[in-house]
Amino acid sequence: MKTVCFGLQWGDEGKGKVTTYLSKDYDYIVRYSGGSNAGHTVEYGDFKLIHHLIPSFDIRKDIKGYISNGVVVDLEVLNKEIEELRKMGFDISQRLWISKLAHVVLPIHKILDEKMELSRGERAVGTTKRGIGPAYADRVHRIGIRLADFENIDELREKLLTITALYKELYSIEWEEYDEVIEQYEDMSSLIVSPLEIKTELENSNVIFEGTQGVLLDIDMGTYPYVTGTFCNTTGVESGLGYVTKLDKRIGIFKAYVTRVGEGPFPTELFGDEGEMLRKAGKEYGATTGRPRRCGWLDLPLLKYAIEISGCDEMIMTKADVLSGMEKVKVGVRYDIDGKKVEMPSELSNIGRSQVEYVEFNGWKNLEDKEFDHFTKFIESETGVKITYISTGARVDQITKM
Ligand code: GDP
Repeated sequence: MKTVCFGLQWGDEGKGKVTTYLSKDYDYIVRYSGGSNAGHTVEYGDFKLIHHLIPSFDIRKDIKGYISNGVVVDLEVLNKEIEELRKMGFDISQRLWISKLAHVVLPIHKILDEKMELSRGERAVGTTKRGIGPAYADRVHRIGIRLADFENIDELREKLLTITALYKELYSIEWEEYDEVIEQYEDMSSLIVSPLEIKTELENSNVIFEGTQGVLLDIDMGTYPYVTGTFCNTTGVESGLGYVTKLDKRIGIFKAYVTRVGEGPFPTELFGDEGEMLRKAGKEYGATTGRPRRCGWLDLPLLKYAIEISGCDEMIMTKADVLSGMEKVKVGVRYDIDGKKVEMPSELSNIGRSQVEYVEFNGWKNLEDKEFDHFTKFIESETGVKITYISTGARVDQITKM
């Protein structure tokens, strides 16, 4: 079985928790995109993990992880994650593999990320400043450093000299602490494999491909330029792996409302007290940066768009418990863009101008309430996609099969 689990909104849908829960029926969890800008929070009850680079496998079980070429790897963050797990009693040195074709996020990428955001002023994208965009850009500029480059240290130093000379000339950024990254590489070098070394094993295993962020932040199909530097859509699975693979199931994860971190259009956004109420109830603060998330009502036109481009064939709803106790719950059902009614946008460039029409639901006391059932049935009938699980709380085991 090959499954992809991905976000149907702007990220933070609870993919980490859901993937961890589903991982018990799989052999491998594979990261196909993003970098350490991802922050998947997983609450086990007696302890909590935030995965930045390590795939969201259930740490208590014998499940393996693979970080594919589609991911850009910050060696410092990865080593720290591995070390923290070791301190907690989880040795994952025989459970994690990393593609040697994955590009490395260097300290200069983080400096450039910060500098670019500052120089954009009011037009800043709102990145996490983790160097992800610049690392992907250097991959395309063909000056990036891959894990494979560390196999020959003399040649690596030459490559690092080239990239730092360019950064100095183009961006006035200086950096020369090469030994630091070389040491960081040495700490994790035993985990590195070539994509073809692991291909057969993955082909013979049950695998979940784990998305990062959400499809609305996809570099092409998201709300460009307010997107991340990677393919968050399910289309990223094959480019991330580097070869063709057949997917059996595409599970899209969505929150019962919507959040967004950083800048960019957000048609159903709530401001003032209403937004603050949702933010507090859902503890909507970024796992990577701690930034308050922007909050708003569920947006069906965008959900339909996300389903359309991802091939989503089942959905999992998270955080509906956060809305429990509210008197009324709204769902955006239609846009009015320049006088035209839109059920699903065909592209996202003008959604910032939309007026949203809402349907109002009576609130529910808890998730057994018939009002909640009414809400879920409405989403299923509008989207034509079945909700197969409802996540009922932050803990891994708080999830109900429908
Ligand atoms: P991800 O990046 O998609 O994994 O999402 P984040 O980890 O950034 O944010 C999701 C947050 O919501 C985490 O703190 C989860 O522990 C929490 N969470 C996940 N599912 C639920 C749920 O159904 N209810 C509640 N209350 N919290 C949830």
